Amino acid sequence: MPANRLSRLMPARLCLPAFLSAAGLFLAAAGPTTPAPGPVQIIGNSGGGCIQGAVRLPDDAPGLQTVRVGKSNFWGHPDTIDRLLQLARTASAAGLPDLYMGDLSNPRGGPMPGGHVSHQMGIDADVYLDINPHPRLPVAARENLEPPSLVRPDGRAVDQSRWRPEHATLLRMATQLPGVDRVLVNAAIKKQLCTTVSGERGWLRMIRPWYGHASHMHISFLCPAGQAECPPRPAPPPPGDGCDASLQWWFDRLDAPPKPAPPVTKPPRPPALPAACIAMLKAP
Ligand SMILES: [Zn+2]
Repeated sequence: MPANRLSRLMPARLCLPAFLSAAGLFLAAAGPTTPAPGPVQIIGNSGGGCIQGAVRLPDDAPGLQTVRVGKSNFWGHPDTIDRLLQLARTASAAGLPDLYMGDLSNPRGGPMPGGHVSHQMGIDADVYLDINPHPRLPVAARENLEPPSLVRPDGRAVDQSRWRPEHATLLRMATQLPGVDRVLVNAAIKKQLCTTVSGERGWLRMIRPWYGHASHMHISFLCPAGQAECPPRPAPPPPGDGCDASLQWWFDRLDAPPKPAPPVTKPPRPPALPAACIAMLKAP
């Protein structure tokens, strides 16, 4: 598939390793631990972004538990937090166990240590696809949880011993939250939905294949209203359910012979974060 078509179908900056991220500004534990004070404001450009006035997802709420608190961050735009709480309530009402919540954003956004190029502006969230019954554990006991992959080691299909119809239920609920841009999952999970979902299939358009994402989904929200400096999201998913050549591409690449390693060159200089973000992230 031509690169330009691929780039139209796939967001460019989602859940990629942090070594590709903006400005080399890796804000690990030494970064600010409090949100930037002031009204909620998202600032960003193609190199990343930040958020002022973020709020934190609670570690415990009806239908959800955060996991790996020492390694993750749970800050976001208030709309993001509201929608995740809504998802948890909806899932719980449908009989699903507590949702395990993974990364949102740092307290002020910006690049994540060892994590993502996205998740910089409080409008992205990782939610594990673990629907096995699990009790409510103390936060410390969730530190090393590793929800299992739903995808076979060869990447060609889901592990049928783990896949349940309730996974589709949860994914559909995520697509139906207000303001969702798209939901990223492993291509094998998308393929499973394509081959098993019957009836109303319009929501499949919002489920897009991406690297990794074998044990969690990445929910990407649109810029909230009134955030003029929030950079536009990638082009919306094209019409249709996405169960087409754009999905098959992910499996064809598994059959492609490995490409020779490119010559070692100086890595391209990543685009800089907006100056306002650098100031925000450096402020005490
Ligand atoms: Zn993510």
